[in-house]
Amino acid sequence: MKIGAPREIYAGENRVALTPDSAVQLQKLGHTCVVETGAGLKAGFSDETYAKAGVEVLPSAEAVFAAADVVVKVRGPEPSEVALLRQGQTLISFFWPAQNPDLLEAAKARGATVVAMDMVPRISRAQKMDALSSMANIAGYRAVIEAGNNFGRFFTGQVTAAGKVPPAKVLIVGAGVAGLAAIGTSTSLGAITLAFDVRPEVAEQIESMGAEFVYLDFADQVQDGAATGGYAAPSSPEFRDAQLKKFRELAPDMDIVITTALIPGRPAPKLWTEDMVAMMKPGSVIVDLAAERGGNCDLTVPDQKIVTENGVTIVGYTDFPSRMAAQASTLYATNIRHMLTDLTPKKDGVIFHNMEDDVIRGATVTHEGAITFPPPPPKVA
Ligand code: NAD
Repeated sequence: MKIGAPREIYAGENRVALTPDSAVQLQKLGHTCVVETGAGLKAGFSDETYAKAGVEVLPSAEAVFAAADVVVKVRGPEPSEVALLRQGQTLISFFWPAQNPDLLEAAKARGATVVAMDMVPRISRAQKMDALSSMANIAGYRAVIEAGNNFGRFFTGQVTAAGKVPPAKVLIVGAGVAGLAAIGTSTSLGAITLAFDVRPEVAEQIESMGAEFVYLDFADQVQDGAATGGYAAPSSPEFRDAQLKKFRELAPDMDIVITTALIPGRPAPKLWTEDMVAMMKPGSVIVDLAAERGGNCDLTVPDQKIVTENGVTIVGYTDFPSRMAAQASTLYATNIRHMLTDLTPKKDGVIFHNMEDDVIRGATVTHEGAITFPPPPPKVA
């Protein structure tokens, strides 16, 4: 079948869902590939590199949608793109079906099958298709780089002829995929790194990466933090008070704070309050990876970098993976390629949409003119 990638049209989106390398792999599955001219340019992939990889370069998005049996994208489709979908065609992209019921209806009305990369079940077998994790990993890494770029000092301590330099102190709030990537990056740059999560089971992971887990003065740290599947649940008021008390103690001493705390289906919890920002030293940096969901810091402005009156920089960018478009595209296109591998079980260029398969079923949000979201609970945990 023909797999096609149009140019991403969402403002500021630099990634692309098909790379020359992933196209080579898709061709080994019996598929052919097409791409819209310029689709990979912002991620460092020219039309020529696609052509050399055997990909046909088409002049417009319309031409790609018309030619492709399977359209692959990064961002969920804009209305103009949904209008190009047709009966029997498959779209694979991020989609966020719970937040986009109108989009879901529109895709259903077009008769298209939609595979939402954000709905891939987070089970071991599906890790190779887990685009949420591959992008969160990049976001965590980039958050530290962004912090370093705005911090006027070294991360690592040094003793030089010109004087002794203390190591930076970094606090990472939330140790999911992005937080753990941030911890790894921060410790590898030599900073003293502290981390906190409501899920106490991550303490061991945090410590094994050379960071220090922040314990609370709370009788029962094993509280209401863990909901199903390893995700967090909202904290009790008492636990939250203990958490904020600990953060107030730490705030004056921290040079960099990176917040990544999220609770599924809810706005980001407010954990870094205005008074904590006021306690921080001039030159300190906060990077709020939860900005898109309202921010963990009271003062975060989504998509902006601000500097407070007391000289604290607060970075609220929401496009960290797109800021590393080459790497992000390579990993995302690999996630898509693995999804297509499972959708091509005989490696004969024929898509077989096996709704008995937990992973395919979980990610499929419209199929053959019906909405198939939400999926039934997965059989395998
Ligand atoms: P996420 O983005 O939903 O949340 C980020 C982190 O914020 C989580 O660790 C959460 O516990 C934490 N958090 C929430 N409220 C907080 C608070 N008040 N204070 C501090 N921290 C708070 O998380 P994620 O990165 O998507 O990972 C969620 C879970 O899924 C984890 O258990 C992870 O190990 C698991 N996971 C499994 C797989 C797999 O098996 N294939 C893949 C990826 C993630």
